[in-house]
Amino acid sequence: MSSEPRTFSFEFFPPKSDEAAQKLRATRARLAVVAPDFFSVTYGAGGSTREGTVNTVLEMHRAGLPVAPHLSCIGSNQTSIRQLLQTYQEVGIRRLVALRGDLPSGMAAGSSQFRYASDLVEFVRAQTDRWFHIEVAAYPEVHPQARTAAEDLGNFVRKMRAGADSAITQYFFNPDAYPRFVEQAQRAGVQAPIVPGVMPITNYSQLARFSDACGAEIPRWMRRRLEGYGDDRDSIRAFGLEVMASLCERLLAQGAPGLHFYTMNLAEPTLAIWSRLGLSQA
Ligand SMILES: Cc1cc2nc3c(=O)[nH]c(=O)nc-3n(C[C@H](O)[C@H](O)[C@H](O)COP(=O)(O)OP(=O)(O)OC[C@H]3O[C@@H](n4cnc5c(N)ncnc54)[C@H](O)[C@@H]3O)c2cc1C
Repeated sequence: MSSEPRTFSFEFFPPKSDEAAQKLRATRARLAVVAPDFFSVTYGAGGSTREGTVNTVLEMHRAGLPVAPHLSCIGSNQTSIRQLLQTYQEVGIRRLVALRGDLPSGMAAGSSQFRYASDLVEFVRAQTDRWFHIEVAAYPEVHPQARTAAEDLGNFVRKMRAGADSAITQYFFNPDAYPRFVEQAQRAGVQAPIVPGVMPITNYSQLARFSDACGAEIPRWMRRRLEGYGDDRDSIRAFGLEVMASLCERLLAQGAPGLHFYTMNLAEPTLAIWSRLGLSQA
């Protein structure tokens, strides 16, 4: 795996209320103490969080934090994507997470000039040359809509060749899924870093819902343990910390080129894993 310096990043979603925005400011201040390489802010497909994403990104950028906006293209057109790229370029943002996205139910892809993330990567490169470092998504347990694992890998390779610089994976709990995926991608010619995505465990019903939707498998032994805790949040968090800290340790020991934390806008669960890993400063 990669011998490049490791990259650590923390993901947020745009807050939906003033109160949530206030909480996010406190969260990001706590997380900034460990100096991640960057924070990222998600973007609802079809532009559903466009304003919230842009406002959150610009506020963080003004506060001096390294920030990478996510940009999903399904349901968007070239004009609106071009405007966003300009907004980010003008203030000096240099990193993007380029995605296809999933349209919210009821929203039609009709006017979309982009079908896949690879179309967006190509477009960003054509519009802005090498200005942005482009991250894309990777799926060690296979994207849920892919017909076969082999086709999904082929599509991932195509997306990297379209001009992506590095990738961040969907979260996973099966430790072998990641090194196998990286090995296959490397055999197919992808040398760029593929950073594992890490989901801290704090709430079982929410985790089960997300995992069903995004195709991340919760192994049976984990499900049974988590189900058994019922509403006992402390036990869920303690178990989640054990499982995730040991998964992260293993990934880093195997040479993973960093970690990307899906923070769910909470500082504590990510910091607890961080401190167990002895990663005082990235
Ligand atoms: C790190 C990370 C961050 C994310 N952030 C967001 C976010 O901010 N907002 C959001 O809405 N979603 C986000 N997602 C979720 C993501 O948008 C969904 O998983 C979505 O379903 C796929 O997006 P993608 O960019 O991976 O798509 P793609 O790479 O386009 O792949 C989508 C599917 O199409 C297939 N495919 C790709 N190219 C082709 C082709 N040429 N021909 C046929 N099939 C093809 C792939 O195999 C796959 O099944 C994120 C996911 C990850 C892992």
